[in-house]
Amino acid sequence: MIIITRPNITEAELDHIRERVEGLGLRTHLSRGEHRTIIGCIGDEALLESIPLRTLPGVESVMPVLKPYKLASRDFAVDRTVVQAGFGAIFGGSAIGVIAGPCSVENGAMLEETSRSVKAAGACMLRGGAFKPRSSPYSFQGLGLEALRLLAEVRAATGLPVVTEVLDTRHVDLVAAHADMLQVGARNMQNFALLSELGRVQRPILLKRGMSATVAELLMAAEYIMTHGNPNVVLCERGIRTFEASTRNTLDVSAIPVLKRETHLPVIVDPSHAGGDADLVAPLSFAAIAAGADGLMIEVHPDPEHALSDGDQSLTLEAFSALMQRLEPFAAAAGRLPLAQGMKSFATTGDESRAADNLRVPV
Ligand code: PEP
Ligand code: MN
Repeated sequence: MIIITRPNITEAELDHIRERVEGLGLRTHLSRGEHRTIIGCIGDEALLESIPLRTLPGVESVMPVLKPYKLASRDFAVDRTVVQAGFGAIFGGSAIGVIAGPCSVENGAMLEETSRSVKAAGACMLRGGAFKPRSSPYSFQGLGLEALRLLAEVRAATGLPVVTEVLDTRHVDLVAAHADMLQVGARNMQNFALLSELGRVQRPILLKRGMSATVAELLMAAEYIMTHGNPNVVLCERGIRTFEASTRNTLDVSAIPVLKRETHLPVIVDPSHAGGDADLVAPLSFAAIAAGADGLMIEVHPDPEHALSDGDQSLTLEAFSALMQRLEPFAAAAGRLPLAQGMKSFATTGDESRAADNLRVPV
């Protein structure tokens, strides 16, 4: 149930409504906009029938929310959520946020070279897997803690914030101490123990859609994180399993406008894991931006041929820079800030080292 308030509601009236609802054992969630506030009620809505909600002072209207997700639902928020994941890494605002970097952290030199190059090209965040969820137990599993340290070092050296995947509830605090944003991979989208644990960390979460998950299941996964206390979730469409075998997965372009309709959370697209082929990254990125995505996550490697994982779908540093230029007209058509301009407001010197300070990483 959501309660939409009158524009001129007083704080005392607001408190009174919340007290009445909470007095029945429900939780309330406030979303304040410039002109009105939405009070979301979570719990046994049947109990609310005992209160004359519509007649309480300050109430304009009352609407049931029948969806199985509440906090993630578009109805629960006055405005769209903008998630900031470190200095200059903003998702859901007027700029398109591009995350770029290798599938796996392989060594410090390749990571730093990639970070500097993608930053110069306009990326707002570096990616790099430390713990890799590999389908085969014999494939490279990532450098683990060593990779986390390298990410933190490169972050401090270049000022570009970092995102990396957390696979295990036991690693949540460790990963949160080294990275600006924590990624939940497709294979863990319904790991409810992990999602609940991520609800209590002070870092935004990048939640990737499971390869066989519906949009509603993705939103319920986000709800797990949010209901446990973390409102900063960025959703990522990364391709789903279909009968089509010519691509690694099938990019579900329709999920982008559907998600934008159903939720206030930012939505980004990973064209690398969707297509599984470096040649498909540009066209899938164009489609994503045109369909309204708030950002992209792209695998980039200085030497894709020798990458330890996902070389086939990784762009070279040069190809990534060229792609960033080619994205401009699509960003303009979608009514977004030019990519370079989006970054320019943050492309300062000095401030970057301050930004690195606000995450005290054990380098
Ligand atoms: C990744 O982004 O490194 C990854 C493993 O992707 P996904 O979870 O989408 O397969
Ligand atoms: Mn990968």
